[in-house]
Amino acid sequence: MADSGRSAVIDLHIHSTASDGTLSPAAVVAAAAVAGLDVMALTDHDTLAGWDEAFAACPSGLTIVPGLELSCVYQGGEGQRPISVHLLGYLVDPSHPGLVAELCRLRTERSRRGEKIVEKLVAAGLPISWDRVREFAAGASIGRPHVGRALVEAGVVASVDEAFVELLSAAGPYYVRKADLDAVAGVQLIAAAGGVSVFAHPAAGRRGRVVDEAAITALAQVGLCGIEVDHPDHLPAERDDLRILAADLGLVATGSSDFHGTNKVNRLGQHTTDPSAYHELMAGACGSRPYAG
Ligand code: AMP
Ligand code: FE
Ligand code: FE
Ligand code: ZN
Repeated sequence: MADSGRSAVIDLHIHSTASDGTLSPAAVVAAAAVAGLDVMALTDHDTLAGWDEAFAACPSGLTIVPGLELSCVYQGGEGQRPISVHLLGYLVDPSHPGLVAELCRLRTERSRRGEKIVEKLVAAGLPISWDRVREFAAGASIGRPHVGRALVEAGVVASVDEAFVELLSAAGPYYVRKADLDAVAGVQLIAAAGGVSVFAHPAAGRRGRVVDEAAITALAQVGLCGIEVDHPDHLPAERDDLRILAADLGLVATGSSDFHGTNKVNRLGQHTTDPSAYHELMAGACGSRPYAG
């Protein structure tokens, strides 16, 4: 924790090579310490595989909150198209059978869908291969950024960010949906595993369609604990609106970087969570504990 007189620097959304970040769990922990973080949450997509390595590398003075980012989908009313929703889950029990089974299913689904995206890109004449994408992933929970790295290596685009402009865009011709977990079931699964859930980047419209306030309200009614208000993909006005919504719904407002190493431009600690919000959030969880180095 922070020395007295200074507020703790808390970043609750960080990725490693266990999913689509570019730093290993040990390296991301070291980078967090160098960046001056007091608390970091490891939140890889649909996997807890980075936890143990992160704990083993945790230096004195840093606290690691074990977490995940669960791929969900919000099914609106009749006639409405489903919308991708990412739920951050903190302090879940890593041996909870229902959670373990769902994460396994989601990773299998990520792999199936990644291969389909690559097939479409190859059919369009782009010089990449599924084998090469799997090498970039190296056993991780596969995501579009791994395909992006193959596109960069092949010289098709200059950066992973550029790959997302068209080739990997959810609105583009090569996109393939994955069968994500229903968002209501996602909130309930995280709670059943003893964790607390936070709606990740709810207003990040640059990535695709976003849900309305009614959807967030519905998730709050089934046990959602917080909203990620301060996030690099949110405009200042969106943050203001989300902060008001969080207060109205009695949800904790968090702030985070969504750091992915060089796969994204976000910096560690780019946005942070207020210590009182952090403590309020963690008090609701019992599936595992923060790891203090
Ligand atoms: P997927 O999980 O396979 O659907 O891919 C989505 C992931 O790609 C998200 O976790 C984002 O972190 C990442 N992503 C989205 N947009 C970009 C971008 N412009 N540049 C780099 N990574 C991105
Ligand atoms: Fe990601
Ligand atoms: Fe996300
Ligand atoms: Zn993320």
